[in-house]
Amino acid sequence: MAMSGLQIYKLLPKTNCKDCGFPTCLAFAMKLAAKQVELDACPHVSDEAKEALSAASAPPIRLVKLGTGEHEFQIGNETVMFRHEKTFFNQPGVALRVKDTEDAAAIAEKVEAVSNYSVERVGIDMAFNAIAIENASGDAGTFASVVEAVRAKTDLPFVLISESADAHKAALAVEGGHKPLLYAATVDNWEAMAAVAKEGGASLAIRSQGGLEELADLTQKITKAGVEDLVLDPGDRTLSGSLAQFTQIRRLALKKSFRPLGYPLIAFAGEVADTEEGEIVAASQYIAKYAGIVVMDRFDPSVAYPLLTLRLNIYTDPQKPISVDPGIYEFNSPTADAPLLTTTNFSLTYFSVAGELDGSGMPAWLLICDAEGMSVLTAWAAGKFDAETIAKAVKAFNADDKLSHKKITLPGHVAVLSGELEEELPGWEIQVGPREAVDLPAYLKSWN
Ligand code: SF4
Repeated sequence: MAMSGLQIYKLLPKTNCKDCGFPTCLAFAMKLAAKQVELDACPHVSDEAKEALSAASAPPIRLVKLGTGEHEFQIGNETVMFRHEKTFFNQPGVALRVKDTEDAAAIAEKVEAVSNYSVERVGIDMAFNAIAIENASGDAGTFASVVEAVRAKTDLPFVLISESADAHKAALAVEGGHKPLLYAATVDNWEAMAAVAKEGGASLAIRSQGGLEELADLTQKITKAGVEDLVLDPGDRTLSGSLAQFTQIRRLALKKSFRPLGYPLIAFAGEVADTEEGEIVAASQYIAKYAGIVVMDRFDPSVAYPLLTLRLNIYTDPQKPISVDPGIYEFNSPTADAPLLTTTNFSLTYFSVAGELDGSGMPAWLLICDAEGMSVLTAWAAGKFDAETIAKAVKAFNADDKLSHKKITLPGHVAVLSGELEEELPGWEIQVGPREAVDLPAYLKSWN
């Protein structure tokens, strides 16, 4: 169970030495209870207190890291049931499954397609995170050779799927040390699987066919065996059943601080339905609630893009709009006589405008004002994109130094700011551009 700040305080040294960065032990205890600091920040905690406090300081859903280097991704560490309560932190990894019974060329083609797939949206690169390899042949040697062949093609982390500890051992030997996830330990094989995961420094997924009690029992046995990085599969393969299980696990971990189920979850979207449409529906559900990894059986860029966009939207902090840095951006190598346009730092606004400016082939400067990440009309209505803000940005980013003229173009939606901006920027000519970004190329052609 989570401990209160006062309960934690009683276990601290109470010397108020400030080495943790807080003025008193009580202040540190309060932060620790709110899970805003790590216990390690206090170097003076006794081993006894450490043991008692570790439960209180651990996140309710364990953070598990998979992969290495630029392909590392982390799952878990979530703190709320609903995105609007705060935010979801670690977006689920999406993996494509291949089987060791498939033709080598087919596997290579799929792996290359997934590894090379990356699409940019509002300045953020979106991609699949892992390859899942299933030991469908049941043969350890075949499994290992496919794992080795796939590793030769990609550095993406693996989800290795087999119930044979020997097959996992063989696969780990050729996997390349990229911190894979081994799937899965069950009531029948957990001791051998835990031993292999521990020896190989891998994370371990646990699959239950006997409900959440069996799952909780297994996590306790496996953590006692020395494997802490666990991922759970409660077993149901229906939309409604898995939704109920995932929600129950999340609720128990967050609301009841039930540690044995405080781990990220893995979902197999392709096992919910036989059709691509069914798989998409399942994957969408799992991304929204509450998978840490979603394994897909099909890869299609036209499906990947909306799924990854959904993931991006759900895991964007609702209190912080995605924004770009304020400043003056250049398009098509502008010279001093090119036009200067302005807009807000809301990412979607910026990328809509930037796309049109870039595509027009005409040189231009774009002044991005800090409007707390809001779009033009929203920021204007909230008083975040007004004449004063624009004038400050013109001066802060030295627009004068870049231009041979003193003209600035406002977005058409805020033409009403012209008069005030003229007062804020004496000597400047205030021009009004189009309302929609799509009309910018035509505007640039006629700009004087
Ligand atoms: Fe108290 Fe530890 Fe912080 Fe010192 S470092 S003030 S002992 S909590």
